[in-house]
Amino acid sequence: MVTTARTQPRIDAGPAVAIRGVSKRFAAVVAVDDVSIEIGAGEFFSLLGPSGSGKTTMLRMIAGFELPTTGHIELDGSNVTNAAPFDRDVNTVFQDYALFPHMNVLRNVEYGLRVKGVAKAERRARAAAALHTVRLDEYGDRKPDQLSGGQRQRVALARALVNEPKVLLLDEPLGALDLKLREQMQVELARIQRDVGITFIFVTHDQGEALTLSTRVAVFNRGRIEQVGTPREIYEAPATAFVAGFVGTASVISGETARGLVGNDGAYSIRPERVRIVGDDAHTSDEVRASGTVTDVQYHGDGTRVRVDLALGSSVLVEVPNLGIDEATPTRGANVTVGFRRSDMLALHGAPSDSVDVPGEIP
Ligand code: ATP
Repeated sequence: MVTTARTQPRIDAGPAVAIRGVSKRFAAVVAVDDVSIEIGAGEFFSLLGPSGSGKTTMLRMIAGFELPTTGHIELDGSNVTNAAPFDRDVNTVFQDYALFPHMNVLRNVEYGLRVKGVAKAERRARAAAALHTVRLDEYGDRKPDQLSGGQRQRVALARALVNEPKVLLLDEPLGALDLKLREQMQVELARIQRDVGITFIFVTHDQGEALTLSTRVAVFNRGRIEQVGTPREIYEAPATAFVAGFVGTASVISGETARGLVGNDGAYSIRPERVRIVGDDAHTSDEVRASGTVTDVQYHGDGTRVRVDLALGSSVLVEVPNLGIDEATPTRGANVTVGFRRSDMLALHGAPSDSVDVPGEIP
């Protein structure tokens, strides 16, 4: 994962996008359930959640392709809830790019301007500038099928940027790319957003991508928002068991195990990188220690992830970094003691069972 430090744009001037009490029903399905968010001008804001959690439906309502069942949507202070897509100052980049195969890249990019009746000289200049922004200056004459997947993605971006929308909506735009290209395009997308300064609203189910790119993230689950915060807030202070399990990997400790470890039976999450397997070293003052048995060991190059079933009940994951020294990695069946700081146990508000079977946990 490539990390780019993002500064937090201010929303003092009034939000660029305000979603107020929005719900969307499709017959018996509640796809979006009473969502309210304010997004500041210039933010890179991600809607993150598992498949079916309602993030695309939310994006389509901002774009105007779906109407909310209840609630309303404002762009720059104007109520656009029922406005047609072309009457909103937004553009959407779709996952499948939707390029015209018979037109070359330049004509694809200037298409929106042609429809609006912009004169030829101006639209050529603006299309060339948009191609420059996505670093495809030399590709104007090519047809889409003469481009790589990453290049097609850039053309789709240029085609949206050329309209200079106030808000750019991106629906899993990197979903079709392989991992390496995806990582390169993440860096490019962050650069482009910084260069053009347009508000980006980005749908993804990839938590690493959301953490890397965003100024803030809204975590969706079953149509509702579990938490809105900066990547650091979402990762370091997950509000619910669902967020702790979906964003990164976390072990959830609750009930009798929590009582045995810290004296009360609330629900807590703890990140694997904050847990270590301890030897005979001295116990620090705020350290919690517990004994258990290793039940799973997964080597993944830069480290090894070890699952320890605690004698008190529950299990914790331990991330053992690969420091290149000849340390013995624990083996399955070994009896070990794990230690972590009490302050690294984060109190959760959701039901602990919410974290079961979410991506990121060893099953
Ligand atoms: P994915 O990542 O798989 O695209 P998502 O989080 O974007 O998922 P949505 O596409 O917003 O989820 O779907 C939310 C829920 O609404 C799902 O249960 C989906 O089946 C349902 N849904 C979406 N569009 C329609 C529709 N046109 N008619 C009926 N149900 C729909």
